[in-house]
Amino acid sequence: MVSTLKRSINPSLKFRLPNLTHFPLCLAVRMWGAVVVGVGTAGWVRIKDMLVPLPGSPAANLCVKGFISRRSLEPHQGVSQISTEEAVSREDIHVAFVCTENVLHEDNVRTFLQAGKHVCVEYPMTMSYKAAVELWDLAQKKGVILHEEHIELLTEDFKALQREVEGKILQEGTLHFTGGALKPGFGFQAFSGIARLTWLVELFGELSVAAATMEEDSGNDYSKMTAKLLTSDNRPLTWIEERGPGLPRSKSINFHFDSCTLTQIPPAPRGDVGLFMQDLIHFSAKLAGQVSAEQLHRERTRVLHCLELADRIQQLALK
Ligand code: NAD
Repeated sequence: MVSTLKRSINPSLKFRLPNLTHFPLCLAVRMWGAVVVGVGTAGWVRIKDMLVPLPGSPAANLCVKGFISRRSLEPHQGVSQISTEEAVSREDIHVAFVCTENVLHEDNVRTFLQAGKHVCVEYPMTMSYKAAVELWDLAQKKGVILHEEHIELLTEDFKALQREVEGKILQEGTLHFTGGALKPGFGFQAFSGIARLTWLVELFGELSVAAATMEEDSGNDYSKMTAKLLTSDNRPLTWIEERGPGLPRSKSINFHFDSCTLTQIPPAPRGDVGLFMQDLIHFSAKLAGQVSAEQLHRERTRVLHCLELADRIQQLALK
């Protein structure tokens, strides 16, 4: 293990490692070697979080061994670039974090599952429901964990909204998201915006798709997807994803209940632990066998349900 770490840590950068005092501990106790695939915003956070995990949490059992990139990059925070071929064949690498653009998730997840590695993939897992079912079956066959990150469910805003909604009976509602123009490789809006759809499913249960439309002005990078959804007791929910240059990143809601109307996401202070760190702890708890089979099944069912809805929205909107 020591020699492997020496291979992936650039000695000239050792003084830039955060919290170097924790390093000998890492050698002694960490159990899962990990590689990060795709080093954009999310990928860098994964590396940083594994270098300085929350002490005492199961995330402290992860040890980052390298990163994979299409670019040729210098070592970062003491962690070096390695090839996919090396990562899949190394016995001290047990886990892959897939942090690329959305359209590349499926192939990367499949490569690492095939090699018998556990996978944590940033949302959305795939750009189709069918592919996600295949990947989950593959994970089961290989006996490894497949985890889809959903940090939007870990925000204090969402938890406060969930508390507000609990026990109320929905009559109808709207969730309208706006944001800047979508970057290339992030796919159709029902998939790139799966975080919002996941909010709706967590708040109101299983949904179905009644209709979906898409307005686009590609010359101006503007697009607006509108999905008409129904709850299991046929209450209408409208989900809008609107993107264009200069649009502020924000979510607005209008939920009519039998007893009141909610037009604001309740403001909530940020939690002490970062969102990606919370997700890392949840994923590593799965690796450690600390998450019940029932909870794993619940997550799988929710993830697949959301991807199935996204698929249906895409079919209807692009018809
Ligand atoms: P990003 O655009 O920062 O990076 C995406 C990909 O582009 C990465 O593979 C990265 O290697 C590559 N890349 C970045 N800069 C590059 C450059 N200069 N030249 C060539 N390639 C470059 O995107 P992101 O925000 O890290 O998102 C990655 C995944 O994480 C997506 O699936 C996204 O849905 C998910 N995600 C991100 C966040 C977040 O807060 N950023 C939150 C939740 C989920």
